[in-house]
Amino acid sequence: MPSANSEQVTIVSIYPALLGTYGDAGNVLALRHRAALHGLEARIIEVAAGEPIPAQGDLYVLGGGEDSAQTAAARGISADGNLASAAAGGAAVLAICAGYQLLGEYFPDATGQPATGLGMIDIRTDRLPRRAVGELAAESLIPGLPRLTGYENHGGATHLGAEVQPLARVLAGVGNGDGTEGAVAGHILGTYLHGPGLARNPALADLLLGWCIGRELEPIEEPDVEALREERLRTVLGEAWNRPA
Ligand code: GLN
Repeated sequence: MPSANSEQVTIVSIYPALLGTYGDAGNVLALRHRAALHGLEARIIEVAAGEPIPAQGDLYVLGGGEDSAQTAAARGISADGNLASAAAGGAAVLAICAGYQLLGEYFPDATGQPATGLGMIDIRTDRLPRRAVGELAAESLIPGLPRLTGYENHGGATHLGAEVQPLARVLAGVGNGDGTEGAVAGHILGTYLHGPGLARNPALADLLLGWCIGRELEPIEEPDVEALREERLRTVLGEAWNRPA
């Protein structure tokens, strides 16, 4: 049990059933686990589709989903405007794949036509020439963050506006479709990394938790996680898995 005066982080899991096709609900478990390792208390609020988004979260988490679920999710989330206002007030957002795309200006619906996104970050998504399915490895562009690993499964190509930084440079796989992967704008982090992404990249979980509490967390390595990361990175990058590219 966390002590009464431990720092608390409120994590809001948005539509985990609707945006949960790829196991991304595991990101919330990874956050809770990492929070506990750092002596933080994670309070988790799950929001089912159709329910209002609470305004008081420290960190909002969105997962991936198929095109029609994604369009429904964008419509539902925009209904009360609470996610956009929480983010504008400094709350952190982790958005994976469909969740990432729907934070932007538009993304393709199930017929390929542009559906209106939430307009929370300056990104636009259209279609890749071919669906990206497979392992994704990328060199983080955030200083101090280790190499990123995950898998991707998406048809969207995401284009970043001038104010948005890519999260990483692709080493293997497709990511945004132009050699970059994911996006960071303030405390909003979008990525194509499934896995779940935070289970495979605990440093990303620590980055998000650090944003919530306003200080950087000390790195804590777990040997079994490091072994998984090495195995996955070795599979796609070979012997050079940990050498600067
Ligand atoms: N429907 C989106 C696409 O195919 C997102 C897919 C996903 O979330 N994995 O690009």
